[in-house]
Amino acid sequence: MDSEKVIRRDNDYVLHTYNRNPIVIEKGAGMYAEGPEGQKYLDFTSGIGVNSLGYCDLRWAEAVADQAHKLQHTSNLYYTGPCSKLAKRLCKRTGMDKVFFANSGAEANEGAIKAARKYSFDHYGKGRETVITLVNSFHGRTIATLTATGQGVFHNYFGPFNEGFVYAVAGDMESLKDLVDRHTCAIMLELVQGEGGVVALDPEYVRAVRKLCDERDLVLIVDEVQTGVGRTGTFLCCERYNLHPDIVTLAKGLGGGLPIGAVLLNSKVAGGMGPGTHGSTFGGNPIACAGANAVLDRLESASFMANINDRAAQLRAGLEKLPHVKSVSGLGLMIGIEFEPGVAAADVLAACREKGLLVLTAKTRLRLLPPLILTAHHVEAALAILGEVLAGFEPAAPAEGSQV
Ligand SMILES: *Cc1c(COP(=O)(O)O)cnc(C)c1O
Repeated sequence: MDSEKVIRRDNDYVLHTYNRNPIVIEKGAGMYAEGPEGQKYLDFTSGIGVNSLGYCDLRWAEAVADQAHKLQHTSNLYYTGPCSKLAKRLCKRTGMDKVFFANSGAEANEGAIKAARKYSFDHYGKGRETVITLVNSFHGRTIATLTATGQGVFHNYFGPFNEGFVYAVAGDMESLKDLVDRHTCAIMLELVQGEGGVVALDPEYVRAVRKLCDERDLVLIVDEVQTGVGRTGTFLCCERYNLHPDIVTLAKGLGGGLPIGAVLLNSKVAGGMGPGTHGSTFGGNPIACAGANAVLDRLESASFMANINDRAAQLRAGLEKLPHVKSVSGLGLMIGIEFEPGVAAADVLAACREKGLLVLTAKTRLRLLPPLILTAHHVEAALAILGEVLAGFEPAAPAEGSQV
């Protein structure tokens, strides 16, 4: 079916909650997506940080297909191999003690909030349930995770929103301390705010947050839905900060393209979550877990991890030399690009797409989340297209009132 028909049918029948790019992706291989009429795109989005191994990695596809032929689902009333294998590997790799499997980032964060509140209830009783999150954070689209999301634009239409969430200014310890009282149960943060504009937290601040949590026995939840699974050059972004949270959530890149979320808990918070406290019909699905196990296989290789850091350095150095680039933010292969005034990220995105490069935006920045498998050649190709696109923008007009 040609692109035009697919787009028309989608517009007719799929609820219009997305601003889609006006292109159809029919298939993909490695770093490249292909359209029905043979269009080819170099993909620096990885489906928003999901396709860690690019499109249809052979071993990943085989692992998923083999599992589909063997056993696709059982419900959580029975034990299955891929689920327990993945849980063990995640714990060994991160130093956490237990895993709860969900199906998305929002669900993983819901599970994290529940586990934090349960810990607080068990140890301090009722009334100690407030979760502090950061301004400009993003934690998901369910009612609770929308409430947790510290951006006013998300707090419309769907109220009443949940009680028990307050927002601290990211990076500002005083703002955080002001909010802590006898009702506080947890602090939840992203180490690099993704949707909020690709902004990394300062390590000093993160250390101070951990200390505050220790002093007040608050549960520290780190939302690694976007930063986790190798994205920032270490398996967890926490490793870059030498941070040991009580709960870590994962999702996007974990399944290599299949829906899966995970709540990683230390023994302190895991203890309270006994039978009946939480559940998910699809959670721990054998096919999703087989896909995640295939992703972890690749991330075990030191050269695979080294490539992430090498390509990130290459990409950042190249980006900083491009016209109209004011600054480059983020960590590892989670990159934000701020342009000089007059260059809109949305226009750059559209122009890149025309030239066969797929990129993302986050707030006013251009955002790159390439698959972790990219090579030096792919980085050069993307930089060439971005350079060509940016050269097409007029030099910034002098600021009003300035002398020429
Ligand atoms: C994408 C994202 C979520 C939401 O994940 P979904 O799978 O869309 O529910 C939550 N937190 C962070 C940091 C994210 O980037």
